[in-house]
Amino acid sequence: MNHTEILSWLREERAEALADLWRKADDARRDGVGDEVHLRGLIEVSNHCVRQCHYCGLRAGNRDLLRYRMSVEEILDCARAAVRFGYGTVVVQAGEDPGLTGPLVADLVRQIKDELPLAVTLSLGERSLEELATWCNAGADRYLLRFETSNPELFARIHPPRRGEATPVDRIGLLGQLRRLGYEVGSGIMIGIPGQTQADLARDLELFGKLDLDMIGVGPFIAHPATPLAVTQSTDRLTVDEQVPPTELMTYKAVALARLCCPRANIPSTTALATLNLAEGRELGLQRGANILMPNLTPPRYRTQYEIYPAKACIQETAEQCQGCMRRRIDSIGRRVGQGHGAAQSRM
Ligand code: SAH
Repeated sequence: MNHTEILSWLREERAEALADLWRKADDARRDGVGDEVHLRGLIEVSNHCVRQCHYCGLRAGNRDLLRYRMSVEEILDCARAAVRFGYGTVVVQAGEDPGLTGPLVADLVRQIKDELPLAVTLSLGERSLEELATWCNAGADRYLLRFETSNPELFARIHPPRRGEATPVDRIGLLGQLRRLGYEVGSGIMIGIPGQTQADLARDLELFGKLDLDMIGVGPFIAHPATPLAVTQSTDRLTVDEQVPPTELMTYKAVALARLCCPRANIPSTTALATLNLAEGRELGLQRGANILMPNLTPPRYRTQYEIYPAKACIQETAEQCQGCMRRRIDSIGRRVGQGHGAAQSRM
């Protein structure tokens, strides 16, 4: 799909035409990755963060947040639960936390891989090439790092460099380095960042195809009151026509178009999407291009503190309830739970 076609889908509002887009995306999903929905157990291991991202509630400047870092033993307990629940993968995610040192994470990965039949995905922010290589050598299979937006000015505005560093890390360049290290590579974007234009979003989707990503996460931007973006009016910079709205509908369009750009990628129906529509957001995502769900394994006492954005879906549920709920949702739309690691089809 070229830029003009993507852009015209993003601007499409007619219900019949959109039904056609959902159908095309669902067909591409079936052909590309089949009917299995893989479950990735999410472990939010630390909410410490040294960064000041203008969109994220974990930003260092948010003094109202109680900070936690799980111990290796606590994380291993969550990974064991993942195996009991029949998940094939755990996703170890955190703020950018130097307390999660290179050796600590390497040791954690080694212990999970030695003891359990799981694929391990890391999502720990922008880390040094040396650390990323060590973790890959320790057995980590995949790395998730969203580029958030492909517009460099917008990215620089919402994602300042670390203290003492002049230029922001080039996340898109880092994705290439992760691939060369041997990781399966995932990236993604937020839909409706204040200042994001429809043309920007079309370029994000084109870039997914060019980067040949294994995993693509797209979710709506949800303003967090303790962040600078909560007070930026999108209309400050853009006309209503140009600004991408952070809506459920726009997120489905992005999921569907990501599927059409990358037929064989693993694409989750995200928690941010479920936050906008708890009743059926996950199912609609799965029916409009997605093939992955990410049930939460984080112990409930920590989960409320991993507040990237407010009112996150399913925050009070136990890991056990979360897995039951996900399975019922998959059943209800006539799909089945995937077995095994569910590696990207493109790498098999
Ligand atoms: N520190 C890691 C993990 C961040 S959390 C990293 O930076 O990669 C994972 C994702 O949550 C981010 O990449 C971002 O796309 C998303 N996110 C952050 N703040 C958000 C918000 N306010 N609304 C919606 N999604 C958000």
